[in-house]
Amino acid sequence: MIDLHTHTTASDGTFEPRRLVNAACEAGLEALAITDHDDVQGYEEAAGAARDNGLDLVCGIELSTRLPRTAGRRGKSVHILGYFLDAPPSESFRAWLKQIQDARRDRNRRLVERLRDLGVGISLEEVQEIGRNMTGRPHFAKLLVRKGYVSSYQEAFDVYLDESAKAYVQRLEPSVPEGIWRIRSGNGVAVLAHPIRLKVRDPDEEARLIRWMCDEGLQGIEVHHPDQAPADELRYLAAAEKLGLAVTGGSDFHGDLKPQVKLGTGTGSLAIPREVLDRLRDSVRA
Ligand code: AMP
Ligand code: FE
Ligand code: FE
Ligand code: ZN
Repeated sequence: MIDLHTHTTASDGTFEPRRLVNAACEAGLEALAITDHDDVQGYEEAAGAARDNGLDLVCGIELSTRLPRTAGRRGKSVHILGYFLDAPPSESFRAWLKQIQDARRDRNRRLVERLRDLGVGISLEEVQEIGRNMTGRPHFAKLLVRKGYVSSYQEAFDVYLDESAKAYVQRLEPSVPEGIWRIRSGNGVAVLAHPIRLKVRDPDEEARLIRWMCDEGLQGIEVHHPDQAPADELRYLAAAEKLGLAVTGGSDFHGDLKPQVKLGTGTGSLAIPREVLDRLRDSVRA
């Protein structure tokens, strides 16, 4: 078994990169991809430990991108996974990642102000103590729970942090096509993460959207993910076949941030065979 979607403390996971490698070995995984949000530092830190333990470690990333505006409304958020990126990344890819990270930091400052205006007594220092150099909304959510402003992680998003919630502030995000070409120019394979989260109710419209991304250079689709039911998997498998997209899957492990999701098995039923990675690799060579 393998897991192609995991996060470390280099983004919003709670396992240090080396600890994640150990956990993967203990879980009997043959291969692991580290796909931190907007960074590859977790992979770089884990590479040595993986080599020592004979774990096939893939350099991945998960980029937050945006669809174009429609009908005057801000486009939806889309997560694009990248696999087999050059490690270390090129100077230009690294500089681009830094731009994204800076935009998040700037957003964090404005988010603290917005929350304080709403009577939530938190400081940037407090939230950065949790999230360190990759502080994001998940760390804000943790802090809001810890300080008793909400009773759960999800409530923090529902009431304050979600795009539709009262404290939300925008940040600069790359477009979907830019995310795809940046990954490809870093020698990576661009894969649509958890398509169910696009929340397109009409299957035909969903298929059109995936086709558009395909025309923009998308190379794969995450068919297996804890949020996706068997019927969803079948629909995404069919889309993959029709559009010639590679199939991937992973647990989206975040450690204690999402304790119900386990490495490798997700919420219980995930079981991704080694062949998925072999085929993904073959699709690059083809
Ligand atoms: P950021 O990049 O700092 O804006 O944080 C984005 C992350 O917050 C995403 O990758 C999700 O893990 C999480 N997130 C965003 N919206 C929600 C939501 N409505 N419910 C739970 N988690 C969310
Ligand atoms: Fe995350
Ligand atoms: Fe994601
Ligand atoms: Zn993820």
